[in-house]
Amino acid sequence: MPYCPKCGAEYREGIKVCADCNVELVDTMPDFEVDKRNFIEFYTCFDALELGRISEILSEKGIKTLIRDLRSSAFPTDIGETAEKRLSVPEEDLEEAVKLVKTAIVDGEISPDGHFMN
Ligand SMILES: [Zn+2]
Repeated sequence: MPYCPKCGAEYREGIKVCADCNVELVDTMPDFEVDKRNFIEFYTCFDALELGRISEILSEKGIKTLIRDLRSSAFPTDIGETAEKRLSVPEEDLEEAVKLVKTAIVDGEISPDGHFMN
């Protein structure tokens, strides 16, 4: 089945272009690794480098992180690098993640500029 790589709509054989997106249809779905776990946003920060470092620290411990840039929201708060970013981890890893971030702050691995949510 051809499908649209942009919106994911499936089309009947023979159709070449997505009617909604005006994008050429492709034949095979790419392998998306869908993580169905419940991710909780727990830390917010304005510094992308900083969040990247935290993300690395958590990844080393086997915790998957997602970073949401609030610039991609419907109401952009885009002021370059000062846009707010939020870090989330799977619910089951939340406690461990909070502990690791706090430790990293105490150890001076990351700055204390971010904020825990809740
Ligand atoms: Zn489409």
